[in-house]
Amino acid sequence: MSDYKINTKCVQSGWQPKNGEPRVLPIYQSTTFKYESSEQMGRLFDLSEPGYFYTRLQNPTNDFVAAKIADLEGGVGAMLTSSGQAASFYSVFNICEAGSHVLSTSAIYGGTFNLFAVTMAKLGIEVTFISPEADEDEILANIRPNTRCIFGETLANPALIVLDIEKFARCAHTAGIPLIIDNTFPTPINCRPFEFGADIVIHSTTKYMDGHASGVGGVIVDSGNFDWMAHADKYPGLTTPDESYHGVTYAKDFGKLAYITKATAQLMRDLGSIQAPFNAFILNMGLETLALRVERHCRNAEKVSEYLSASDLITWVNYPNLKGSKYYDLAVKYLPNGSSGVISFGVKGGREAATRFMDSLKLAAVVTHVADTRTCVLHPASTTHRQLTDEQLTAGGIGADLIRLSVGIEDVDDIIADVDNALKKSQI
Ligand SMILES: *Cc1c(COP(=O)(O)O)cnc(C)c1O
Repeated sequence: MSDYKINTKCVQSGWQPKNGEPRVLPIYQSTTFKYESSEQMGRLFDLSEPGYFYTRLQNPTNDFVAAKIADLEGGVGAMLTSSGQAASFYSVFNICEAGSHVLSTSAIYGGTFNLFAVTMAKLGIEVTFISPEADEDEILANIRPNTRCIFGETLANPALIVLDIEKFARCAHTAGIPLIIDNTFPTPINCRPFEFGADIVIHSTTKYMDGHASGVGGVIVDSGNFDWMAHADKYPGLTTPDESYHGVTYAKDFGKLAYITKATAQLMRDLGSIQAPFNAFILNMGLETLALRVERHCRNAEKVSEYLSASDLITWVNYPNLKGSKYYDLAVKYLPNGSSGVISFGVKGGREAATRFMDSLKLAAVVTHVADTRTCVLHPASTTHRQLTDEQLTAGGIGADLIRLSVGIEDVDDIIADVDNALKKSQI
């Protein structure tokens, strides 16, 4: 499918039915797969022959959807996970072990921050955080001999800071380590991080990819570009034999597919966070309309952000594609067609006015979600990010007054009318 444009890939990539097969991707609702001989089954267990044997590792429905996402991102392979959190964890843990260090930007999703700062520390993996605005000298100075990857978000949730992916990719490659990018908010419609040097991309498919707030899920996509063998001492898990697979050496036996094969064959086998095939089916339906929806989300968000920036009832507004935004230049480079449907702003009057604003909305719902068809709103400091200290909030670009508005695909006039009414009520 790689010759087609991205709008076509959304609809057509992945499942390619042969003569007489179902037009629509079937749900392979089966834990197991049948074989004629135990010898053949044995070859599957040795990874010497491809094939399905147990859905905890791989399932055809999932694989067709993963193939579509790999095609959208321009990668060589992908693996679906049960959630975005699982994707973040596996993407890093696939190349780290106790004693490893990870350098992450501080402008990341709150759940990822907890995973990195608290849970991974318990596993003996130390993660340190650096400003996304750090210059190259500062980034390089923070890379240690045991650093195994750099992690960042294309468009930080909820701070909406645009990452200079090329800068971080250059530093990672100077140090001989890969750059992992969480591309959840822009989706491959608006940005394809591999084109700017990222090596691995992950998504919470729960957001725009599913797009209807119907199924939690995640995906890891491998560009196939990182040369693990050239840095073999750093990545023994990929470059030395895996005894749990009869001595397979992923980087030798699977070439460009080494990383994603190890993630599937080893991490999924041992940790088991597979996406249910039914959820993968729903995800695929979301992907079919992804390009249409993302475009509408962006056009609506642009209009709402223009409305907000002209209002004197707000103190600031951040939408990267809005002229005057601090991240405008980066948005022009990385997100020329729009960033996402998400806008952040501060209501005049601080925390109390922000609460009154949220309680006065009628169309926009107060939910712990973003990036689906329905307009919704959240106050991170009192909900998703409440476990963070004020310093951590500031480092992540999230003030106590920040409101995150996820603009849906309804008629933009109705969305603006709702926001306008609630802003007026917030000041009473
Ligand atoms: C939601 C989100 C995650 C976590 O994904 P889940 O599917 O909720 O586990 C990770 N990264 C970003 C940017 C997110 O928005």
